[in-house]
Amino acid sequence: METFVDVILPLPLNACFTYSLPPDMAGEVARGSRVVVPFGRKKFYTAIVQNVHFRPPEGYEVKAVSAVLDPHPVLLPGQFRFWQWVADYYLCTLGDVCKAALPSGLKIESETVVELNPDYEADTPLSGREQKVLDLLLADPVQSVTRLEKESGLAGVLGVVKSLIEREAVFVKEELRRSYKPRTESCVRLASGLCSEERLHELFDRLARAPRQLSLLMKYVELSGILGPQPRSVSRKELLQAAGQSASALSSLVDKGVFEAYRRETGRLDTGSPLQTVPLNPLSQAQQQALDDIRRGLRTHDVCLLHGVTASGKTEVYIHLIEETIRHGRQVLYLLPEIALTAQITERLRRVFGHRLGVYHSKFPDAERVEIWQKQLTEHDYDIILGVRSSVFLPFRRLGLVIVDEEHENTYKQQDPAPRYHARNAAVVLAIQQGAKVLLGTATPSLETWHNAQTGKYALATLTQRHQAVRLPQVLPVDIKELTRKKRMNGPFSPLLLQYVREALERQEQIILFQNRRGFAPMLECHTCGWVPRCKNCDVSLTYHRGLGQLTCHYCGATYAVPRRCPACEGVDLRAHGFGTEKIEDDIRALFPEARVARMDLDTTRTRTAYERIIDDFAAGRTDILIGTQMVSKGLDFDRVSVVGILNADTMLNYPDFRAYERAFQLMAQVAGRAGRKSGQGHVLLQTKSIDHPIIAQVMHNDYEGMAAGQLSEREMFRYPPFYRLVYVYLKHRDETRVEQAATTMGEHMRAIFGSRVLGPDKPPVARVQTLFIRKIMLKVEVKAPMARVRQYLRQVQQEVLADERFRSVLVYYDVDPM
Ligand code: ADP
Ligand code: ZN
Ligand code: ZN
Repeated sequence: METFVDVILPLPLNACFTYSLPPDMAGEVARGSRVVVPFGRKKFYTAIVQNVHFRPPEGYEVKAVSAVLDPHPVLLPGQFRFWQWVADYYLCTLGDVCKAALPSGLKIESETVVELNPDYEADTPLSGREQKVLDLLLADPVQSVTRLEKESGLAGVLGVVKSLIEREAVFVKEELRRSYKPRTESCVRLASGLCSEERLHELFDRLARAPRQLSLLMKYVELSGILGPQPRSVSRKELLQAAGQSASALSSLVDKGVFEAYRRETGRLDTGSPLQTVPLNPLSQAQQQALDDIRRGLRTHDVCLLHGVTASGKTEVYIHLIEETIRHGRQVLYLLPEIALTAQITERLRRVFGHRLGVYHSKFPDAERVEIWQKQLTEHDYDIILGVRSSVFLPFRRLGLVIVDEEHENTYKQQDPAPRYHARNAAVVLAIQQGAKVLLGTATPSLETWHNAQTGKYALATLTQRHQAVRLPQVLPVDIKELTRKKRMNGPFSPLLLQYVREALERQEQIILFQNRRGFAPMLECHTCGWVPRCKNCDVSLTYHRGLGQLTCHYCGATYAVPRRCPACEGVDLRAHGFGTEKIEDDIRALFPEARVARMDLDTTRTRTAYERIIDDFAAGRTDILIGTQMVSKGLDFDRVSVVGILNADTMLNYPDFRAYERAFQLMAQVAGRAGRKSGQGHVLLQTKSIDHPIIAQVMHNDYEGMAAGQLSEREMFRYPPFYRLVYVYLKHRDETRVEQAATTMGEHMRAIFGSRVLGPDKPPVARVQTLFIRKIMLKVEVKAPMARVRQYLRQVQQEVLADERFRSVLVYYDVDPM
């Protein structure tokens, strides 16, 4: 009987595709296997087998699977269920999920490759373009189209290739490129048949007159333990070193047929000698109490919130819970919001758990991620995975606990591309699907989580004191409106802030200066006419990077040279405007020339090592002042920081978003939390023009509950999360009128179903990105509304609208629970 497979392709497609399985592959394929299939015109993709069956599809001619990549599935059954949930809930396709979930090394790309026909002889003269391509192929007979295009400098090289194919001068073949190559080392082993004591003694006798070869052989017998119960492989390099012999002696042995050379796959993961691990820190009484509360809470709930002030020892509590979980044979997934935290936490966890810990990070080389994935499928899987957002997609065979650290962080939400998932929420679903428990930890819970804890949906445990009674910092508000009016500000600094910085420097203590990233990117402005450079593709002003001498667009990444003259008025007085961190750094260096200053923002931390260096230097006291954006707020544990300056609270408060106040509080409380972690009470200078704003007072008194109560009642009144669920519908098109019409039509269709729950369409703040015009429609539905039906309606509306000839090419996508 003919066998068929349904597969998931890593493409944003809704349909499921069926292929036939050639008989010789039938035994090798199971649910979760990777196969290569042809798709579209001359394209091949890696696909995941979702189903193996015997029902031929109707209505189209099936193509056959081209190759089977793994003898074993790379996806566990539970992962299909999770993928399906992500696709359903976030209104995207399984293909989108597949693309995000698999490390790229597990996907194979297809590139068209052109090969010279060695038997070709020109019968009619070639055109100049044809000759050019042929010459390139004569130099190197197998090349990809991309490369030919580049090397020949010809536009439309495919047309030339096509005519060369017609002349039979070249062939085209699809070459599948495996992007992940296992690392190998060259090894030697005894030729088969020589592995007995008897044969070895004969050999020793035979080699008596070749002492160097004899010594090599004897060393090999020793290293490999070939005669013992557990022989192991021996690398060439290791053997030569241990025996102190030259490669030529080894070659002779290979030539004589005593040794065989072969290559062995080795792991990239660090599995060297186990690290010395240290015992767990004993918990304080308050921490022990919190741990007991968590344990009790998780007996009756799936999720528990640990609300603990900064430096209360939440991480210590996690460590105890992890130890307990793995002692019972279950795995732990420890999620962090981003790279900013991994180095310090990894070190802390490694000290206790050694190689039972695996770290999964998108900034790591892909090959490493592939190996972690593969390892998770085996019996030798990690007990603990520490990872960012995407690690929820790893295979887990025995998941027992998920910890989501700094659960309030919005970096847990993926913005672009689909799936636009929230890793914290996805992790809760994953845990429930796999019978595991979830611990959410933070000093400043998201209002969604806090609401769940208040209404009893989640259990709650609290830590109100810092460890060893270190005091929370004192927050001193500074009215910069008044000071600006009196002309007493020194650039972005108030006299009080400068005084605290100076005194801290004198006491050899450290300082953090925080500038919100949003709305404070430095711009270039013509001082004569007010002209500001804008991106040609996107509807935004460009950010000025003085260090790079460039203007860049933070949406599409386009870069522009800094103009010498204003194109509007020809004026030459172009000035930097706004207090970016770069400008603050300059000002601080000028004010405190003796201080050692570092800056941490997107520009200075492009690589992992750059980031780690800044942190290490600061932690080791090699820098005095650290200036940074959001990144400096993220749970870093610095012992000598006594002063924190928040340069401008207003950019956070004035941001036009319903979460602005919640975020402003979280950000300020977290930055403030970096102060005075061990060295006594720290000080936070909070500069603002809105000294009477309620959030300022709440930050001063670390009054999270007051902030939450106030914000929750506003959210309820204005119909926002956590009382209502938001879905943003985005439409994109090159043509503004077209997208406008499509959005209006879509809005009408949606209103017919959802009534006043639909708002818009509107132009979003950035209404054009990468030359596409954007419209946004907002849908607010009651949390109790059946979401499956809501999604069904949305898909239906989309189908109706896109069925219209005019709107066929309009791009539609959704952002569910937008952040
Ligand atoms: P949080 O995660 O709540 O910010 P941490 O777990 O990082 O707090 O604790 C803050 C500091 O106090 C860390 O340097 C940590 O090593 C130390 N600490 C907390 N609890 C203990 C404990 N029980 N024993 C030893 N050191 C502790
Ligand atoms: Zn001008
Ligand atoms: Zn742009």
